[in-house]
Amino acid sequence: MTDTASPSGAISGTPLEAAVRGALARVMDPDRGQDIVSLGMVQGLVVRDGHVGFSIEVDPARGPKLEPLRQAAESAVHALPGVLSVTAVLTAESSGKAAPAKPTGGAGPSKALVPGVSFIVAVASGKGGVGKSTTAINLAMGLAVKGLKVGLLDADIYGPSMPRMMGLAGRPDTKDGKLLIPKKNHGVSCMSIGFLVPEDSPMIWRGPMVMSAIEQMLGQVDWGTLDILIIDMPPGTGDAQLTLSQRVPLSGAVIVSTPQDIALLDARKGLNMFRKVEVPVLGIVENMSYFLCPNCGHRSEIFAHGGARREAGTLGVDFLAEIPLDPVIRETSDGGHPIVISRPDSPHAAAYRGLADAVWAKVSGEGARRAGPKITIA
Ligand code: ADP
Repeated sequence: MTDTASPSGAISGTPLEAAVRGALARVMDPDRGQDIVSLGMVQGLVVRDGHVGFSIEVDPARGPKLEPLRQAAESAVHALPGVLSVTAVLTAESSGKAAPAKPTGGAGPSKALVPGVSFIVAVASGKGGVGKSTTAINLAMGLAVKGLKVGLLDADIYGPSMPRMMGLAGRPDTKDGKLLIPKKNHGVSCMSIGFLVPEDSPMIWRGPMVMSAIEQMLGQVDWGTLDILIIDMPPGTGDAQLTLSQRVPLSGAVIVSTPQDIALLDARKGLNMFRKVEVPVLGIVENMSYFLCPNCGHRSEIFAHGGARREAGTLGVDFLAEIPLDPVIRETSDGGHPIVISRPDSPHAAAYRGLADAVWAKVSGEGARRAGPKITIA
């Protein structure tokens, strides 16, 4: 989603954007007797080809009774010439408003956010649809079958697919009305914005909102003690992703890419982003690497297979795994039974377990310890 909004309150941008702000400036907050623009409640305005979206930030306690205000705001904008559709959402005003991104080289992200978690690893991609979520979930499964305590945080709030892919539904319980209890399936604790909002509800996010939603899913969730927490990042390498990488105490990042050159260019952007914020890139996974015919087992290289491995070499990062394009991977993950769990004997499950071994060895240093001394016989 392209955010064409000007800084909140500023009358600038396209004439339609100015007209939208003008219309919203006539919508009054009934409790506060002032208009919602002057009160700074209109956020994340997006105007694109006649389609308008924005959020109205409200005190969560007033949320339920402000539905008429939301509707009034939508109608005011809808009445403008040139407006084709309007989507307004009420969002909770957070007291700890997301601060601007810290410059790099500072004290680094705070570990206090998730004190019981030993390592946090981000799974990222330069663009959407490359299989990032599928990889994140199967990586988490691979770590869990090693006997580790694993959490999975769906930070892909633009398209939270984890509830479906993990076979989970419903709202998470809460212990004391404050901390949410993650939902668990296949031995992995999960949290996703998809548990809190219906999958088809229109959500509009701007950078700081993304960060505060993710901070809530880290800090206001009872993760307990975990060996490793996998974060399924929002796709892309924009401001939201950069801020997330700075603000969350990441032990490392895995970049998922398809073999097409264009995707590899995107992968390079991901790599540079993590390098900028000094998060170690654990390596690249090539997804949809080649096609394995489910009928005859024939292997076809549809795209220039091997591109990611070559690219990893050029860029000086490790190549962690190549996962074929195979309908069974889609069917199992979209059906809520990730392949590592549902087809543990398949070569694909083995590839994901290999990925999990590599990631764990890198973050924990265990691989190095386990390798023992090198004995050379002269
Ligand atoms: P992203 O998180 O990058 O947007 P997803 O993990 O949601 O991508 O994957 C997009 C779609 O592609 C899903 O339907 C998923 O099941 C499918 N998919 C992902 N990886 C593979 C694969 N290796 N083989 C077949 N289908 C795949």
